[in-house]
Amino acid sequence: RLSTILPLTILVSAYRLSVMSNASLSPLLKQATPVVVDHASGSWIHGTDGRDYLDFTTGIGVTSTGHCHPDVVAAAREQCGKIIHAQYTTVMHQPLLELTDKLGEFLPEGLDSVFYANSGSEAVESAVRLARMATGRPYIVTVQGGFHGRTVAAASLTTAGTKFSAGFGPLMSGVATTSFPHALRLGMTEDEAVDYALKEFDFLLATRVAPNELAAVLVEPFLGDGGYMAVPQRYLAGLRERTERHGALLVLDEVQAGCGRTGKFWGHQHTEGLRPDVLITAKGIASGFPISAMAASRDLMNKAWPGSQGGTYGGNAVAAAAGVATLGVIEREGLVENSRVRGEELLAGLRSELDGVSEICDIRGTGLMLGIEFGNPTANAGSEEAAEAARLAGAVQQACIDEDLLTLTCGPTGNVVRIIPPLVVTSEEV
Ligand code: PLP
Repeated sequence: RLSTILPLTILVSAYRLSVMSNASLSPLLKQATPVVVDHASGSWIHGTDGRDYLDFTTGIGVTSTGHCHPDVVAAAREQCGKIIHAQYTTVMHQPLLELTDKLGEFLPEGLDSVFYANSGSEAVESAVRLARMATGRPYIVTVQGGFHGRTVAAASLTTAGTKFSAGFGPLMSGVATTSFPHALRLGMTEDEAVDYALKEFDFLLATRVAPNELAAVLVEPFLGDGGYMAVPQRYLAGLRERTERHGALLVLDEVQAGCGRTGKFWGHQHTEGLRPDVLITAKGIASGFPISAMAASRDLMNKAWPGSQGGTYGGNAVAAAAGVATLGVIEREGLVENSRVRGEELLAGLRSELDGVSEICDIRGTGLMLGIEFGNPTANAGSEEAAEAARLAGAVQQACIDEDLLTLTCGPTGNVVRIIPPLVVTSEEV
């Protein structure tokens, strides 16, 4: 009998098993595409249905070096023959030391200590622990529309949509959300929206969260699940200035925007001079092997006491070896630059092909993180108008599948088609 809680990605195979074994499946399971992979390489997924799909989902922004890049496969294979698992707080292994060195070449100055876990959510949880322990303060402020994961703490910090936390409260306490400077939705210029959102942040600190209770502001430099949208640079700079002024930490969640996705290695590098206190990364770091990292200064990291951070599988040797290979490929093949150039091509193409389509309110993108938003941006979540926009985005995503193109949807109401090509994507594929 199958468990009632299965990962989404195995729905179809589980369905087949269920047919064979008569096991019951949970109705929670829902798959965005009907595709079952036989094998995959580069930008392509070869389905068991005999069709070749151009994969612009990349396992939700993970397989940046393309599926089964030979260097990553070779590194993982070789590592399997040496040691698979040692638990690095017990016995250190070479791949993790190498990954730390390599990652250090990309990390912002001053972030010279790295903690490893398995997933983005775990890294987010680690950052919450670190921020509270280091400051002795309870509050984490997040930005409206942010997505930080599905574990209970990470879901408590997530406002990208109600579906991520509805029904299993009470959530973590000591969380407050501040406004996102969403110019389109507010009907303002970007500058006006930033001024408005920064005033809202100041108001939050004057009314709900005392500055000496603020441990950290946690923000994505680009909204991921919240709509594939850049967070305005002046807003990020404003949050940096305010956290510093109030003795709180700025934690940047680069799980989705990091590792070259936006045409710079880190999403926050689009904002000149921005320095986080803590940076979280995962997804694109190891081409699909589960590993995440939280980087901070050694001083800060030492404020979490031994035993408070850890986990059995975090920093796994095979995942770390794949991470070293991945960062090597990103560097050697110039994938950050490819992300920028191919992204510009794709954005220009989408804008010219879709110009004047009245159901579309915005076509946006930085690097290879692109979104097409449907409907009226001022529509209230829960309204018929918002539901119709989400239905349209879903219909477009399904129609793409008929054309052998895989994409996803996102946004608080699901009204954005998101396009996440691998960083190795070619001009022809674009
Ligand atoms: N943070 C961001 C910005 C994400 O996009 C995600 C996942 O999509 C997470 C955190 C959670 O990562 P995971 O699904 O690996 O737990």
